[in-house]
Amino acid sequence: MIAALVNRILPFSSVDGPGNRTVFFLQGCNFNCGYCHNPETIHVCNNCGACVSACPTGAIRLVEGKVTYQRSVCCACDACLRACPRDASPKVDVMQPEQALGILSGNLPFIRGITVSGGECTLQRDFVLALFRGAKHMGLGTLLDSNGNYDFEQDEELLPVCDGVMLDVKCADPDAHRTLTGQSNELVLKNLAFLASVGKLEEVRTVVVPGVLPNEDTVRQVCAGLAPYWAAGAPIGYKLIRFRPLGVREGFRSVPVPNDESMEHLRGIALQAGCANVSIL
Ligand code: SF4
Ligand code: SF4
Repeated sequence: MIAALVNRILPFSSVDGPGNRTVFFLQGCNFNCGYCHNPETIHVCNNCGACVSACPTGAIRLVEGKVTYQRSVCCACDACLRACPRDASPKVDVMQPEQALGILSGNLPFIRGITVSGGECTLQRDFVLALFRGAKHMGLGTLLDSNGNYDFEQDEELLPVCDGVMLDVKCADPDAHRTLTGQSNELVLKNLAFLASVGKLEEVRTVVVPGVLPNEDTVRQVCAGLAPYWAAGAPIGYKLIRFRPLGVREGFRSVPVPNDESMEHLRGIALQAGCANVSIL
């Protein structure tokens, strides 16, 4: 049986790809970024039970050693997330693709596509594949929001039903990337080139973190890789995202937000490289 851990579903979003889309956020990530704004999505719950007594409404229970969650009585206070010692969440639904497609069909008149995000959605690839196949049957567009730590070239089934990937390129420098995420960026950079070459790169996203990451070097390297595709008319977007210390863990709470001047400087580099669609968030 195929099933995924779903952290959250946004029925309608206009910022997760073109048009109005339903967005599925899956639980679990294979990076552990210091600046993550949703660190509770990184790990999968190990049923330790530490959050149960923190819940004021009884929405979480420990039943035969497993945590259960009742969304209908949750007041969204997030006390459970603060009590969790391992950056996990008990507020997760186990969902089969058929259930997800049932939700999608209810949204059909109002959406033109779906986006699957995370955590890291490719960790639950079989669910994503089944969901995308079903969404395509409904005539919907399909986008993935990925940290890039997945070998898309080796997966012959996923890209044919995926319109494009919104790829995080957090840091081009291998050592700084490993320090930030705990993982190599080898696959990320391979995917940057591969997805662009097969017309499946929807956009690149880089979070700009002043004083912590070599932001300009990353933007320059992304632009050097994509310039030939932009010159050929490929509509690959580049989204430059300001770091904001909201929801982040201790080590990043005092990192400043990048100023307008530095963001515009990075935008200028991308524009000069030929990107027609650079946005600053
Ligand atoms: S957010 Fe967590 S602690 Fe708060 S009511 Fe919901 S399950 Fe309970
Ligand atoms: S969500 Fe965290 S605290 Fe709650 S049972 Fe799971 S691992 Fe333990």
